[in-house]
Amino acid sequence: MMTEIQEIEIQKQYMQKVAKLIENKDLKYTILTMGCQLNENDSEKICGMLEEMGYRKTEDIEDANLAVFNTCCVRENAEERLFGKIGNLKNLKEKNNLIIAVGGCMMQEQHILDKIKKSFSYIDIIFGTHTLHKLPEDLYKVLEDQKKIKDVIDIDGNVYEDLPIKRNSKTQGSVTIMYGCNNFCSYCIVPYVRGRERSRKPKDIINEVKELASQGYKEIMLLGQNVNSYLRSEMEAIQQGKLKDEAGDYKEINSFAKLLRAINQIEGIERIRFVSPHPKDFTDDVIEAIADCGKVCKCIHLPLQSGSTNMLKVMNRKYTKEQYLNLVEKMKTKIPNIKFTTDIIVGFAGETEEDFEDTLDVVKKVGYEQVFMFIYSRRVGTPGDKMPNQIPEEIKHKRFDRLKDLVESQIAKTNKSYLGTAQKVLVEGPSKNNEKMLTGRTESNKVVVFEGDKDLINSIIDVEIIEDHMWYFKGKVL
Ligand code: SF4
Repeated sequence: MMTEIQEIEIQKQYMQKVAKLIENKDLKYTILTMGCQLNENDSEKICGMLEEMGYRKTEDIEDANLAVFNTCCVRENAEERLFGKIGNLKNLKEKNNLIIAVGGCMMQEQHILDKIKKSFSYIDIIFGTHTLHKLPEDLYKVLEDQKKIKDVIDIDGNVYEDLPIKRNSKTQGSVTIMYGCNNFCSYCIVPYVRGRERSRKPKDIINEVKELASQGYKEIMLLGQNVNSYLRSEMEAIQQGKLKDEAGDYKEINSFAKLLRAINQIEGIERIRFVSPHPKDFTDDVIEAIADCGKVCKCIHLPLQSGSTNMLKVMNRKYTKEQYLNLVEKMKTKIPNIKFTTDIIVGFAGETEEDFEDTLDVVKKVGYEQVFMFIYSRRVGTPGDKMPNQIPEEIKHKRFDRLKDLVESQIAKTNKSYLGTAQKVLVEGPSKNNEKMLTGRTESNKVVVFEGDKDLINSIIDVEIIEDHMWYFKGKVL
């Protein structure tokens, strides 16, 4: 069997072969990414591979020779959106000989593959979450042999290093530290489409962060479905006498806390963030590392999902309302001025009015900086989909509106406390809504828009907060 290193070597050869095939043809690609930051990071690798092969990026589909869709299956409406877009491409495919490649999480679902076979047989390449690295080979076969490729496998998953990458941001570098998930929350499809938890080797992550620092990146976003169980599976395997040859790779860094401490020492990096941690895995060593490491932002995303112990049990979250609140209190005691953001699902199967009140209660007690709120939508293949006591849409929407009102009133109050303060802001670039203004983020991840010289981009500066607009602040450079 081939090792991951050998597999990547083969793909590099395919990159050269494609580059030769399309030489001097000025071919362009366009990419649509759905879903989370992990998917965004996967798309950065897709773009990296395509540009290595000689394709250039275009935002104009009419101008593209290759259209790539990197899909997500976490939200219900994503399927309609994807198929609507692919349906619209049929004419363009005939007119421009457009190659269509569709990959990512959705392609790991059988009912999606069946639908593609039935209604969208003109798609050229289908790749899954475990075969993204094989895009060069798949593309070569389409270009050279005019074949249709379906490259989806269902495995626990491997870790592939050394793929080219074309990053979207010039200030924040995303670094995936682990793949997959072992938690099987009952509403979530991710463990079924992304396989079991597996972590990248510490040295590969450290090298990537050093490389980003050398390119001038100031902020690092560590990514994983469950970042604070980084290396847990590997350490368990070593304890069971497996992975003997690799044990030396984890001598210095063998946990998420140690990884944070190591990245904190990398010169040039000034901010470290991570998503998503799981409350049940928030061990004391991680809390101490956050407190000790000056570069780790003291704004932690701590997904709640529900404030009701009953619902958390049904959701298979493995913590109670009290444990979550105790964790928040412990972190507030150990880390001065710590702030929190969270995710909440409204209307999961069986949620009673009392359960929902518990969620509101936690929101009031924690006082989040930001809450990402979702109305529960059933995902085929998850236990939640088979639960009999689904909540009527009307009730879900009413609860969602009540939660939204509470969150907005809390954020409005919190925002007032920023007025007149000086905040350290990492300047990201021109504001999307007003090219004459700059935009950046505070350590607590609040957006600040202000007038300033473009030379300030990618530096951390002091900005006074002068106006509060709910989802962003207006500031003045100090
Ligand atoms: S921790 Fe739960 S919600 Fe997060 S990816 Fe894993 S199963 Fe899904």
